[in-house]
Parts: sequence; structure tokens; C-alpha cells
Amino acid sequence: MTKTITEECRLREKKHAVLIVDDIPLNIKILGEALRNDYHITISTNGEQAIEISKSDETRPDLIILDIIMPQMDGYEVCRRLKANPKTKDIPVIFITAKDKADDEVMGFQVGGVDYITKPFNIAAVLARVKTHIQLKEKNEMLERIAAIDPLTNLSNRRGIDEKLDVEWKRALRGETPISILLMDIDYFKKYNDHYGHPKGDECLVRVASVLRDSLKRPADFLARYGGEEFMVILPETDSDAAVDVGNRLRAATEASCILHECSDLICKKVTISVGVATTEPHKHGDLSPEDMIKQADVALYESKKNGRNCVSRVVV
Ligand code: GH3
Ligand code: MG
Ligand code: MG
Repeated sequence: MTKTITEECRLREKKHAVLIVDDIPLNIKILGEALRNDYHITISTNGEQAIEISKSDETRPDLIILDIIMPQMDGYEVCRRLKANPKTKDIPVIFITAKDKADDEVMGFQVGGVDYITKPFNIAAVLARVKTHIQLKEKNEMLERIAAIDPLTNLSNRRGIDEKLDVEWKRALRGETPISILLMDIDYFKKYNDHYGHPKGDECLVRVASVLRDSLKRPADFLARYGGEEFMVILPETDSDAAVDVGNRLRAATEASCILHECSDLICKKVTISVGVATTEPHKHGDLSPEDMIKQADVALYESKKNGRNCVSRVVV
């Protein structure tokens, strides 16, 4: 039975992608046929092209099977370059080669390969090793994701913030755009815990997190739990006025969600947040770091606390 193109695409989407790199087309054919049932196969007969395929977000494979002896660039060099590039460094590389000396194998691991198979190979063993390394990679990715998530609110945690801020900072530098950081802290939260108990305090944090999440409009805006009862929003391509508007919207939405806080010193007796906004254009301040900006947002937050809480203050660097 022939598959329709859509069916074929659907199947491909579910399959993991394996890139086979070998200068001899017959070798590719043998491996390709053995793996085709279980994996989406891409092929390359030279190292340069294999690196290009791996760098592209559209064609990046889940695993690479790499020959060593190839004209121009050999497999060791291909692997070294893949491991040196953040976009490709986590793709597991399995060498399959005629080089069967112990030193050759050691070299394969030294340049970053996860496995080393000598020719002639047993196809069932190759399949088993490919499967193992793809499973390991998926587990690693899952652990990385979990490590960046706060389990109470399901928002990104401090680690997620560091990663995101680094990416957005570099993007702002390249694009010469402004970037803003909002630091938000629940007012009189210690009193909330003391009065309602810690479990209710946790519930309150979950509710505030969801109010903040629902109040952000742009997909690029990034919300995270900074720690304790503090939240952070990173606003790429956002100047100070626009960021203060967002801060006010989040502040107003929290108050409007009417979470009762009988022990708050504020007359509204509801859960409120204070907000600190820091904005800069990183390309105009070569020595400024993302950490400096977090400190500035904290300075602005302190200002909001001093000015009576449930309000927004700003710092422009
Ligand atoms: P301010 O208005 O000045 O911010 O006062 P505050 O009481 O909110 O600030 P303070 O830093 O004195 O207290 C923060 C409280 O937040 C104390 C801490 O027990 C509570 N807290 C931090 N993390 C959690 C959490 O995960 N769950 C709960 N329930 N409480 C938390
Ligand atoms: Mg605090
Ligand atoms: Mg607080």
C-alpha cells in the first residue's frame, strides 16, 4: 500500500532523525536500509555538509552515525566541530569505522563521540546502540527541562531565568534593542503565611502566578518565579514606558483578582504586589551584565516598597 504524502510526513514527525555520514554511498545504503523502518534518515557524503545539516533548526538530527576516513574533513574533525558549537554539541555521535586500533577508538571518545563501532558491524548491535543513545539523549533533555521549572507554580525557576536572560541579552545586543526586567514581590506575604498557614500561602503563590501569566500578552514575554514570593518578567524589545505599563497591568490584575489578605497593612486587604522595572539598551553599555540589571530591578522594587507598596517604580540604565 502506498502512503499519502501527509501520512509520510506524519510518520516522519514521530520518528527520530538519524544522520548517516559516509563518503562511500554503498555504506550509507546498507545502514540506511537497516535503520529506515525505525528512524527518519538523512544522509551526507562529506563532513562540511553534515555540519550544515546539523546546525539548521529544520534538519538537526537526533543522532549522527559518522565515518572517520573521509576525504577533505575526517570524522574526528567533524565531531570536534559539532561539539564546539552550542547548537550541535548535544547531538550524540556514533563512529562507525574501519579503523580498529585501540588508539583510534580512544581518539573517537576524546573528540566527543558517545560510541565507537568497527567494521564489519553487526546490524542488530548498531540498531541497539542507536536506540540506547537516543533514549539517553531524551532523558537528559527531560532532566534539563525539569531542572529549570519551579514545581509549585510550573513557571521557570532561577535557572530558567539565567538561560533565558542570556539568550535575550545577546539578542538585544545584536538587534540594538532595549530590554526590560520586572521584579515583583508579594506585599506582606509573611503576614499572609502567619495568618492563613503555609499551605494557603502556597495556594496564593499559585494563584498569583496564574494571574500574572494570564495578564501577559506577547508570546516573547517571559514569566518566572525568581524565588520565594518574588516573580520576574523579561520583556524583550521593550522600552521603559512600555515596561512600566506592563508592570502596572500586572499590579492591577493581582489586586483585581481579589485574594483576601485580612492582615495586609494596606487598606484594600487584598493580596497585592510591588513592582520594580529596570530598562537598558545593552549595546550602549558594554560593561553592563544581565546580573547588573536584576540588581537595578531590585533597587526599583525596594523603592516601590518604600513608597507604600502595591505600586511600580523604575530605573533606566
Ligand atoms: P514585604 O511587603 O516587604 O515584601 O513583606 P513580606 O512579608 O512579603 O516579605 P518577607 O521577605 O519578610 O517575607 C516573605 C515571606 O514569604 C516569608 C516566607 O516564609 C514566605 N515564602 C517564601 N517562599 C514561600 C513558599 O514557597 N511558600 C510559602 N507559603 N511562603 C513562602
Ligand atoms: Mg521578598
Ligand atoms: Mg514580600
